[in-house]
Amino acid sequence: MRCTKCGRRAVINLRAHRLALCERHFVERFLEVVERAIRRYSLMSRSSRVLVAVSGGKDSLALWDALTELGYRADGLYIDLGIRRQNYSRISKEKAEAFAEQRGLRLRVFNLKEEHGFAVPELRRGSREVCSVCGIVKRHVMNRVALEGSYHVLATGHNLDDEASVLLSNLLRWNLELLARQGPRAEAWHPKLLPKVKPLCLLTEKETATYALVRGIDYVYELECPFSAGATSIAMKEALNRIEEHSPGTKLYFYTQFLRHRSAFAGERPSAEAVECKSCGLPASGEVCSFCRLLLKSRLRGEKGDN
Ligand code: AMP
Ligand code: ZN
Ligand code: ZN
Repeated sequence: MRCTKCGRRAVINLRAHRLALCERHFVERFLEVVERAIRRYSLMSRSSRVLVAVSGGKDSLALWDALTELGYRADGLYIDLGIRRQNYSRISKEKAEAFAEQRGLRLRVFNLKEEHGFAVPELRRGSREVCSVCGIVKRHVMNRVALEGSYHVLATGHNLDDEASVLLSNLLRWNLELLARQGPRAEAWHPKLLPKVKPLCLLTEKETATYALVRGIDYVYELECPFSAGATSIAMKEALNRIEEHSPGTKLYFYTQFLRHRSAFAGERPSAEAVECKSCGLPASGEVCSFCRLLLKSRLRGEKGDN
């Protein structure tokens, strides 16, 4: 397979775009698409101080690399959830640290156990929902660290496959509230919240993996958290990949057309109430935010001696 642009050996075949690209032209295009998403959806500006949430996986490290290449000022944040099974947290932290060190970038590490006395396995005890704890912790910590560090915007590594699969799942349930909120930029609805952006939303998982490979990024392959059921999202991704196989370009079209018509769902946005958590002061939907509720429950369990 030869590069459509220069005839050199191609490293990727992008059927959706009828393009085969060599290393150089692929990297060039990848960066262009990241920049396009940033401009089209007003994700950030050149002067923004960006905090990239890095998990040690290919997407978030590729994102950090691309933003830096494009000249954005981006620091990284790794949240150590203290998951020991399969050495999950230790290995992913090492990858993030090695990446930052090689490129002379600043990585902030937040260790949940050291800061709050409990790691995720302890916070999960007694809870049946599979993955909600990680999500609550990550949202809280990302926001807090970004706020304390005076960043302007928080960026995550969600790619087109992630976004399209969530969209499909929200549509299948006609979850209008979630549909109204889904997109590459989530606005801050409270002064103590930061806007959250997804600059890789127009790039597939195959593209981010190829980018990481070509750029020599060492990342954790098996990044599925050992507590994650992940079944719904995997089923949605598989379904979309089968459709994509049949009609290349559908995934991108599905997502970008949704964003064009998203205002149709805008009326479904619940009016956000600006309540602050009594315990940590960050915005909450009730008196105490879900993160502080988790900590409280674990402390109570500890006092009862069954921890
Ligand atoms: P996930 O929820 O695991 O699919 O991850 C989605 C995004 O959240 C990643 O692309 C990262 O930007 C961010 N993220 C996930 N895990 C962590 C972590 N332990 N520390 C910092 N950011 C994370
Ligand atoms: Zn080429
Ligand atoms: Zn709180």
